[in-house]
Amino acid sequence: MSLMRLAYASEATFEAKPVEKGVEPHVARILMTSRKNNARDQLVGGLYYGNDRFFQYLEGDEDAVRRTFDRILKDERHKNVVTLIEEPLTSRTFSNWSMKYVPLSRDVRNFLDEQGLESFEPSSFTSDQCEKMIELIRNSSQDQNLVNRDNNQSVGDAPQVLSSGMKMGLIVAGLVLVGALVIGGTML
Ligand code: FAD
Repeated sequence: MSLMRLAYASEATFEAKPVEKGVEPHVARILMTSRKNNARDQLVGGLYYGNDRFFQYLEGDEDAVRRTFDRILKDERHKNVVTLIEEPLTSRTFSNWSMKYVPLSRDVRNFLDEQGLESFEPSSFTSDQCEKMIELIRNSSQDQNLVNRDNNQSVGDAPQVLSSGMKMGLIVAGLVLVGALVIGGTML
């Protein structure tokens, strides 16, 4: 099996809607399909979306990468796809991610500042800038919650913390109640 890697930049054709659950809704749908398909095809990589632009990196079996990219090219949710990297790969450099998603984050803003770039325009990235973007995706931990709580759960909400606090409160209230009943019982 021969491996390859591929990176491209494109422009979103949809009107960005307000972020829901940490992700723009069109992008959320793209991610859901991508994660399902890429896990099945053992593809790994990442997707950046910001400034109505996409930067995507994919690596895996050459046939699977090419089949996926053919579907992506036909997708009407983006246009002006520019291939930035398309080359053989000796070994995988990502692990455990079917499609890592990172919004235009502080890391990327720092990267743009470092490079003297005013906005996120990945189609004009140099090969060195592409490698830096891939490195950012690889090292980013931003997506952890998003991936773990995929599909219906929200990144913006804080139900985990709240519910564990509530659970603890209920346990304490229960213990107090039992204690009161025991004390009340012994006094009768
Ligand atoms: P389907 O079952 O055909 O569709 C899944 C869902 O996506 C459906 O709900 C459908 O409403 C919606 N959908 C599909 N195509 C379109 C469309 N053209 N316009 C609007 N809605 C549509 N796919 C991957 O498998 N892996 C990727 O890494 C990947 N990355 C993407 C990155 C970008 C920037 C974009 C725009 C698309 C990407 N896609 C990716 C999606 C890809 O273009 C195909 O839509 C998808 O692979 C079709 O897979 P499917 O036949 O299993 O999905």
